[in-house]
Amino acid sequence: MGKNIFITGTDTGVGKTMATLVLALLLRDRGIKVGVMKPVQCGGHDADFLKKGLELDDDLRDINPCFAEEPLSPHVAFARQGSRLRLEEIFRTYARLDQKYEMLLAEGAGGLMVPLKRNYFIADLIRDLNMDVVIVARLGLGTINHTLLTIHQARSLGLNVRGVIFNRTRDENDGVAEQTNPGVIQTCGHVPVLGTIPFLKKFHPEEIVQQCQPQVRIGKLLAPTTIGTVLKNTRDTSRTRTRRLCSWDKKYLWHPFTQMRDWLAGDPLIIDRAQGCYLIDTEGRRYLDGVSSLWVNVHGHRQALIDRALKEQIDKLSHSTMLGLSNVPAIELAKKLIAVAPKGLSRVFYSDNGSSSVEVALKMAYQYWQNLGKTKKTRIAHLANAYHGDTLGSVSVGGIDLFHHVYRKLIFKTVTVPFPDCYRAPRGKKYPDYAWEHVEKFERFLKKNHATVSALVVEPLVQGAAGMIVWPEGVLGKMAELCRRYDVLLIADEVATGFGRTGKMFACEHEGVRPDILCLAKGITGGYLPLAATLTTEKIFQGFLFDYKEQKTFFHGHTYTGNPLGCAAALANLEVFERERTLEDLAPKIHFLRERLPAFYQLTHVGDVRQKGLMVGIELVRDRASKEPYLWEERIGVRVCQDVRMRGVILRPLGNVIVLMPPLAISRAELEMLLEATYGAIEKVTAGA
Ligand SMILES: *Cc1c(COP(=O)(O)O)cnc(C)c1O
Repeated sequence: MGKNIFITGTDTGVGKTMATLVLALLLRDRGIKVGVMKPVQCGGHDADFLKKGLELDDDLRDINPCFAEEPLSPHVAFARQGSRLRLEEIFRTYARLDQKYEMLLAEGAGGLMVPLKRNYFIADLIRDLNMDVVIVARLGLGTINHTLLTIHQARSLGLNVRGVIFNRTRDENDGVAEQTNPGVIQTCGHVPVLGTIPFLKKFHPEEIVQQCQPQVRIGKLLAPTTIGTVLKNTRDTSRTRTRRLCSWDKKYLWHPFTQMRDWLAGDPLIIDRAQGCYLIDTEGRRYLDGVSSLWVNVHGHRQALIDRALKEQIDKLSHSTMLGLSNVPAIELAKKLIAVAPKGLSRVFYSDNGSSSVEVALKMAYQYWQNLGKTKKTRIAHLANAYHGDTLGSVSVGGIDLFHHVYRKLIFKTVTVPFPDCYRAPRGKKYPDYAWEHVEKFERFLKKNHATVSALVVEPLVQGAAGMIVWPEGVLGKMAELCRRYDVLLIADEVATGFGRTGKMFACEHEGVRPDILCLAKGITGGYLPLAATLTTEKIFQGFLFDYKEQKTFFHGHTYTGNPLGCAAALANLEVFERERTLEDLAPKIHFLRERLPAFYQLTHVGDVRQKGLMVGIELVRDRASKEPYLWEERIGVRVCQDVRMRGVILRPLGNVIVLMPPLAISRAELEMLLEATYGAIEKVTAGA
């Protein structure tokens, strides 16, 4: 049970403001320090009325952070006056008032399904503020339906309905409907009815309390305990709960890529909820999600459309196998993926994580040539510094020594193609010129060896895990051309770069590259669920069509392949891209980053700042002139990320490289906050180092 209450109505004009005033006065009469808020107001003077009625010392802007002139639905009213409804303002104000008062009442605008934005309703705001709901209803004929619908909708959206209060807006005698409505609502809606506010003629606080006290059972809002203990309890409960969860985490969990000895010595931050680009911990603290929950989130957390799509899919089917059967979202998503993917790709093979999507690609490429009788084409080429996942096949094509050297004897032999590190050029060479020497070397290699090479796997344009190494322009296109010329399949691993991260839907598009195989995961579901896909061409697909007896089937598959929930989330993810014109909105954000990032060079220990789209790497060095790196043991990246957390931002470094990879939905203001916090943290930590 939340302590703060959002007052909503079955309709507009039911007297929400009066009900808010009455409830606030009655609670105050019980000795509770009550504050009020009108998050969004379109026309009228509700906030002012509440401020005066309760004699509050708050600024009017604090009571009402978002205001539009015309009495219209907020999403229309704000658009017509050419301004933006800023939810951040509401959250900030709410946090402030929540600190100041023992209990907060917030008055809505109209009913639950009044849109604040195209895909964001009053109900979403209530949920994001984590408030309970009191519904104000009209008395009289024809109001039961509205009231029950509102109760039903609130509950189906996961809101806690604390009660219904009726409001007598006219000075008339009761008919049968007026007399029976409250009872009907209580029985059919399974909801407490708080009472009926009498028709009020005088607005003096004491008179209101006097007139309403006998009619409104305010105690029902406080039950079962008095609010004081509820307050203390919620605070205590969350602290005790956090402590308990911490100890269980340390007792039962083994975290990925984590030296657990360090982990056990620290205090884990436990995320409980999220909203937009923010993560919220078990103590209610909010953090900007600066790396998209490890490169997966796209449109923000709890995106309304994706949430809804998932709930609808749960009501139909959560899982059924793709071995011998098919399912609706898997089919629809496959069609959609082919429509948005680079040209030439025509088949979708599902799995459930990025590493697996690469495994699938490698086996597919290898077997393709085997099936065709070109049995010498067995070698797989990959770039230096590559990262393609953590399963043994994908580790085999990886080139990051730190992650991979322990497993060297477990993995298969590959061909490593030298590739430029755009920051540390060999002595006497200049970037990006020397990158082309690598391309020429690659060409000579192919000329000689192509008969034994089946595929080249690359991370197009950005080598993510290597430290956000950005490719020089034109190299990807040239390599693709060479692969085509020498009959080597090109596998594009867009697990990290896919779904808008580089500014286009897929990184290959920047250079018009058409890979033979495309690996997708991470952002495919908008960051909601584990799902991956390996896309390929009709030519490769045809290379597996043989008589059953020949055993040339692609023998690969995961139990959760094509999971309907994952596919439904992915479909909704792509729908949001279309509806919100995500990619078009991205250009100004990328431009903004490009303008602001050079400022980081003012910090003496920033050696290199790399950016492609919304993927950013800031490499810290001990000495800029010699590019001498910080020692691994110094954990400079980790320390910067610890410091930035205190500034309300979550980041995860790659060694000495600070990575910024916010959700595509991040706002300009949030981007600014992200840069500011990162700058401050680097400045502070490197000064001490
Ligand atoms: C993250 C990543 C993977 C591995 O994906 P998982 O879902 O973690 O298995 C593979 N390739 C690239 C380029 C990645 O960034």
